[in-house]
Amino acid sequence: MKEEFEICFKSAGGLFDPQSKEVKKLVEFSNNTIEHIKSIYTKMPPIYFNLINNNSLNATAAIFNNNYLIGVNIGTFDIIRDLFLKNLSCKSNALFKCTKLSLVNTKNGLEYDHSFDPDSIMFDLNYSKLLSQQTTLVGKFVIYHEICHILRGHVDFIKIKHNLQIHEVNTIIDTKIINTLQTLEMDADSFATNRCLNDFFQNQSIDFRNGIYKDLKTFIYYFSYSIYCFFRIFGFYELNISCVKSYSHPPPAIRISMILDNIATILIEKNIKNKDEIIATSMQATRDAENDLSKITYFNNEFFRVQEVYANPELTNYLFQIVNNWKNIKGELEKYTFSELPN
Ligand SMILES: [Zn+2]
Repeated sequence: MKEEFEICFKSAGGLFDPQSKEVKKLVEFSNNTIEHIKSIYTKMPPIYFNLINNNSLNATAAIFNNNYLIGVNIGTFDIIRDLFLKNLSCKSNALFKCTKLSLVNTKNGLEYDHSFDPDSIMFDLNYSKLLSQQTTLVGKFVIYHEICHILRGHVDFIKIKHNLQIHEVNTIIDTKIINTLQTLEMDADSFATNRCLNDFFQNQSIDFRNGIYKDLKTFIYYFSYSIYCFFRIFGFYELNISCVKSYSHPPPAIRISMILDNIATILIEKNIKNKDEIIATSMQATRDAENDLSKITYFNNEFFRVQEVYANPELTNYLFQIVNNWKNIKGELEKYTFSELPN
């Protein structure tokens, strides 16, 4: 399927090759994550995963000549590492100067700037475990999200019905299918959130076993913190309702709100004793993340955009619309899915 991958993603940059030891590890990690899901959902078809030679932030789930492919831009992993490296350097020692993220704005959107040398960053080694856990957590979230697009039939549905591919970079699209795409993105975020939490609960994943997450509350704090940081890099946009409806993805502030709601639902369903305290922790984590990000980016603190989702009835209603639309799409997805669909 390597050949199909090359052809399918040629215009996006093609296969990222040759691969260093570190990059090979990323591919192996992603393949292990796919295998883990395949062991749970045995009807899932084979998926070929690889990296795309592109420095921007994007990932794609596709079907090409009947082969299922997931391509993640190498820039996505570079940016995730840069994000937590600079973040933890800035937090770990008051003597270290906070360094801004190595991002350049190009015609293709934000790209990782390779002129930066990661070894130049002063770093407190006590934080190295946290660095690896946070990058792993976000990496895992991205892969689970892409797998869901294939597993639950999104890719086939969008290809057959609308002749489109699923990209993670936000685009303005034909408003006729807007709710469909945003609802599918919500589903993929929900699947990824559930899988990451499940890995913690089951303690099956090696990445969590010897981790720094000593209890559920700490885990939820870092999960919410890390995912918030990642979405925030995509930028917050004006939450004008007519613009919001024309995006391929729900705006980051709405996505984050849905993920926090999703976490709360899981904790309630599992009847976790100190759930209220943990839910409050997840909110605090997003607040802290916004604060910390303003030190390593040129972003202003715009936490009010997340609060606006809950305070503005137009936006709250729109959020419900994305969620409720699942009922309409679910029936159509039944033809394409490789797993049972949630209610
Ligand atoms: Zn997606």
